[in-house]
Amino acid sequence: MIVKDARFEITAVSPAQYPQSNLPEIAFVGRSNVGKSSIINSLLNRKKLARISGTPGKTREINFYNVNEKLFFVDLPGYGYASVSKQKKSSWGNIIETYLLTRHQLKVIILLVDVRHEPSADDKQMYDWLVANNVPHMVVATKIDKITRSAVNPRLSDIRKALNAAEGIKVFPYSSETRQGREALWEAIDEYVEE
Ligand code: GDP
Repeated sequence: MIVKDARFEITAVSPAQYPQSNLPEIAFVGRSNVGKSSIINSLLNRKKLARISGTPGKTREINFYNVNEKLFFVDLPGYGYASVSKQKKSSWGNIIETYLLTRHQLKVIILLVDVRHEPSADDKQMYDWLVANNVPHMVVATKIDKITRSAVNPRLSDIRKALNAAEGIKVFPYSSETRQGREALWEAIDEYVEE
C-alpha cells in the first residue's frame, strides 16, 4: 500500500469507543519496548504519529490510526512490563482480549517480538491464545539492525520454534531504523486488506 494519508483517529478502552466504521483493521501487539510505536510510524512513513515510549508500559489504551481512509492500524497496549501490578496486568489483558474477541473487522494481528531475545512467557501465552481463539496472525521480529545480517535467519527460525508456529505462519524480519522488511510486510498486510 502506498500511504497517502495517515492520521490518529481515536483512543479507546472499551468497544463503545472503537471507531464506528467497517473499515478493515490490522492490529499490533507485543511486549512494551518491543518497537511497536516505531514500526507503526515506519509503516506509515511518519516520525511521531504513534508515540515512542519514554516510559515503557504506560499506554493502556487502544489507539486507532486511519490509513488512507481504507483501513485502521490498531495499536494494542504493550504487555509484560515488570513493574505493573497484577491487577493492572489483568485489566490490560482484558482490553486486548475484548478487542480481539469482539472486533469483526479485525483482519490480522501482528505479534511483535524482539529479534535478539527468546520470546518471553508473555509472548508465548499471547501466541497460544491467538492460536486457541483462531485469530489470524503473523509474527514480526523487530530491531534486526541490531544483529548481524547472517544472524537474522537463524534467529527467525528460533523464534518460530519457541512459539511453536504452524508452517503457514510467517515470521517477518523488520527494522524501523533502516526500514528493512517494510515492503514485504506491507505486501502481507495488503493481502488481508484487499480480500
Ligand atoms: P514500544 O514500547 O513497543 O512502542 O517501543 P518503541 O517503538 O517505543 O521502541 C522502544 C525503543 O526501541 C526505542 O528506544 C526505539 O527507538 C527503539 N527501537 C524500536 N525499533 C527499533 C529498530 O528497528 N531498531 C533499533 N535500533 N531500535 C529500535
